[in-house]
Amino acid sequence: MPDTAIDPEIAARFIAIVGEGHAVTDPHDLEPYLVEPRGRYAGVSRLVLRPANVDEVSQILKLASETGTAIVPQGGNTGLVGAQMPDNSGTQVILSLSRLNRIREIDLSSNTMTVEAGVVLETIQTAADDNDRLFPLSLGSQGSCQIGGNLSSNAGGTGVLAYGNARELCLGVEVVLPTGEVLDDLRKLKKDNTGYDLKNLFVGAEGTLGIITAAIIKLVPKPKGREVAWIGLPDPKAALDLFTIASSAAGASLTAFELMQKRSLDFTLKHIPDTVSPLQGEHDWYVLMEISSGRSAEDARGLIEEIVGAGLEEELVEDAALAMNLAQAGDFWRLRESMSESQRPEGGSIKHDVSVPIALVPEFIEKAAAVILTVVPGARMVCFGHMGDGNLHLNVSQPEGADKEEFLSHDRAMHDAVHAIVRAMNGSISAEHGIGIMKRDELLATAPPLAIDLMRRIKASFDPAGIMNPGKMI
Ligand SMILES: Cc1cc2nc3c(=O)[nH]c(=O)nc-3n(C[C@H](O)[C@H](O)[C@H](O)COP(=O)(O)OP(=O)(O)OC[C@H]3O[C@@H](n4cnc5c(N)ncnc54)[C@H](O)[C@@H]3O)c2cc1C
Repeated sequence: MPDTAIDPEIAARFIAIVGEGHAVTDPHDLEPYLVEPRGRYAGVSRLVLRPANVDEVSQILKLASETGTAIVPQGGNTGLVGAQMPDNSGTQVILSLSRLNRIREIDLSSNTMTVEAGVVLETIQTAADDNDRLFPLSLGSQGSCQIGGNLSSNAGGTGVLAYGNARELCLGVEVVLPTGEVLDDLRKLKKDNTGYDLKNLFVGAEGTLGIITAAIIKLVPKPKGREVAWIGLPDPKAALDLFTIASSAAGASLTAFELMQKRSLDFTLKHIPDTVSPLQGEHDWYVLMEISSGRSAEDARGLIEEIVGAGLEEELVEDAALAMNLAQAGDFWRLRESMSESQRPEGGSIKHDVSVPIALVPEFIEKAAAVILTVVPGARMVCFGHMGDGNLHLNVSQPEGADKEEFLSHDRAMHDAVHAIVRAMNGSISAEHGIGIMKRDELLATAPPLAIDLMRRIKASFDPAGIMNPGKMI
């Protein structure tokens, strides 16, 4: 019998469900499940269960409810708010979805794919591509995150502007409830007004209500033309005005509009190998704009030229480069996607994942830039994000030469100051990464009491024994 912190007899019953070969108990083998990618959140568990199918998940949750054992669902373990980590008690059991990794069906008439929770996002994208379709959820972690984790965290990323977040890309789910009951809500329907939308309670629930074991996701036609521009601008207001022009000219063909502060690009060029600025001169702000056309490459090219031309004419755009080919478009995107990583060599970074109404983005940036200096004089704002969604990653790097730990000790004060601006604008303190452990106290302290009360009542009715990912989100 392996050494576990939970009752050995109970552990043995869990292990019997999946079989010895699919229960992880060796301390060395447990390690990757107990810390998240940046090492910011870690926990203790003596048992990881790797079920093969819905029936095994159901048996595990039934036993967990019966024995009061806390279960922590884990997908690709790429979440950024600690929601997939066990606590430090050693009594929580991690349930890994990695072996539920089948694509059950691709339906080209309905434009849907039925996938099990453990299918890696990139595998789904490739399968869609092989079928001349696009699955437009696109994240930096797509090589390892899983669709069950994407849905449970309602992931966003760069495709939200045109295609919506994970919630909007999901038509149906199969869920195992804490009692072990299986809710089969795997429906392909675009129209279905038959009572409460149960599916959407599980999407974004961070594993606190049940385990998503499968989902039906939407596919879209693969664009025939895709054009990318890298644009230099004087300030976020110019970017907002350009966005207004672009969205009214392109509509759903505007598939990305990413805003980046000069410092974000400077760090990237300095620290990420083989990167070059697409423009000769320097600009205070940049936009990466992508246009996709369902008709043709010429159509996409014409549209992007029209928008950039209008921006130049109205003196919003200072300079712009259009990618000459797919490889160059990839280079432009790589600059944007490396921005988070390029901050690491600059020392401590305090991060905010916030959203405000798009029209308020310039005012938000101006106010945040001022307030962070009142918390830590000399702190360096590093702002980039999905402007088209009103979602900014407003990060703050430590002052040059500062002590990292001392700087990071101001994180609560920094969050409070930045989030106060967000709340005053009716924005969100978690646009796409979720609540998890990171923002739980703040959510409980600042959300309307009635909203928290309703969430607690929902949690209690689904999970009366409190076994599903306790201590997370709510
Ligand atoms: C480099 C990098 C870039 C990223 N970029 C983005 C981005 O652009 N946009 C964005 O939104 N996020 C981003 N993320 C965050 C992260 O990748 C996403 O939140 C992702 O959706 C998590 O998927 P996962 O499979 O790793 O889930 P995990 O991290 O394993 O789990 C996340 C949450 O879901 C729960 N869970 C997992 N699977 C299930 C299941 N089957 N049933 C019930 N609950 C489950 C877990 O308990 C936890 O609460 C990024 C992360 C990294 C490391």
